Amino acid sequence: MGKQHGSCWWCVKAFKWIPVIFILTIVCWSYYAYVVQLCYYTIESYVQKLLYLFFFHIMFFMFLWSYWQTVVTDLIPVPDMFRVPAVEMEKLQQAQSDEAQAAILEILAQNLPITNRTIRGAIRFCDKCQIIKPDRAHHCSVCRSCVLKMDHHCPWVNNCVAYHNYKFFILFLAYALLYCVFIAVTTLQYFIQFWKGDLEGMGKFHLLFLFFIALMFAVSLNSLFFYHCYLILHNRSTLEAFRPPVFRLGKDKDGFNIGKYSNFQEVFGDSGRLWFIPVFSSLGNGVVYPVRAQHQSGPNTYNSMGSTQNSTAIVGPTIDANEPLVNQIETV
Ligand SMILES: [Zn+2]
Ligand SMILES: [Zn+2]
Repeated sequence: MGKQHGSCWWCVKAFKWIPVIFILTIVCWSYYAYVVQLCYYTIESYVQKLLYLFFFHIMFFMFLWSYWQTVVTDLIPVPDMFRVPAVEMEKLQQAQSDEAQAAILEILAQNLPITNRTIRGAIRFCDKCQIIKPDRAHHCSVCRSCVLKMDHHCPWVNNCVAYHNYKFFILFLAYALLYCVFIAVTTLQYFIQFWKGDLEGMGKFHLLFLFFIALMFAVSLNSLFFYHCYLILHNRSTLEAFRPPVFRLGKDKDGFNIGKYSNFQEVFGDSGRLWFIPVFSSLGNGVVYPVRAQHQSGPNTYNSMGSTQNSTAIVGPTIDANEPLVNQIETV
């Protein structure tokens, strides 16, 4: 593309990494405080030392791995089949009324696998990205692009939480919560000893702060984690929890709800071995989602996802994601 970026753009880009650096700094310090100050200097029993270090390292590793995956996962862009060709864009821009624009979009989208609509019943369109929005996709103003099944933009991971990293984000919350609870529980007795005056040296302040910070993070992670558990079981993104998706028949906050276990599988996959590790195993392709029966109508009808990954079946004209939209419309 050869895009030129000014120094201001680089400043903004660097600035966005500050929350990630902040989290990593706290995690590094917590590692030092726990392993060196608590396990090495404070705990006397070898058995206790080994047990604490063993469980601590498992949680530390899983937490960092999930966090890393959430941060570095590239969100795959909306497929080309949703792109509005330049000539159609011109027509859209020249359209005299909203109705005329809606009619053009209706023709463009007639063979696309979409069920979501705007509140006025029109096809959802992003004029910044010049695409017809797939179901559950939203434009992120921070990432400056439309994101598949966007949940929210999270500054703490400097990334959008969306279809491709949602599982990693949930595991990150779960392991971060376990990590904090484990630290808080195992440092509690030393926290009590601190107030009784039984601890010596400067290391006691590390243990004091370790307990406080672990407890503080555990409380805030707890509500976030259980809120997302609720969302997963009801098959809603955070955005959809605030603004229910709209279908041909109108708003339906449970439009994508296909039963608790199937909802869970949609995010975590159908292989139990992969549920607890941060490798991608979500079902589908991020573009098409099973919807409840009443929303399955017209050429965009499709079956549920079936039992294997990437097995979403679209009933109706098949569409090649690599072929420009306009060619396909002409040939259908
Ligand atoms: Zn967009
Ligand atoms: Zn974003």
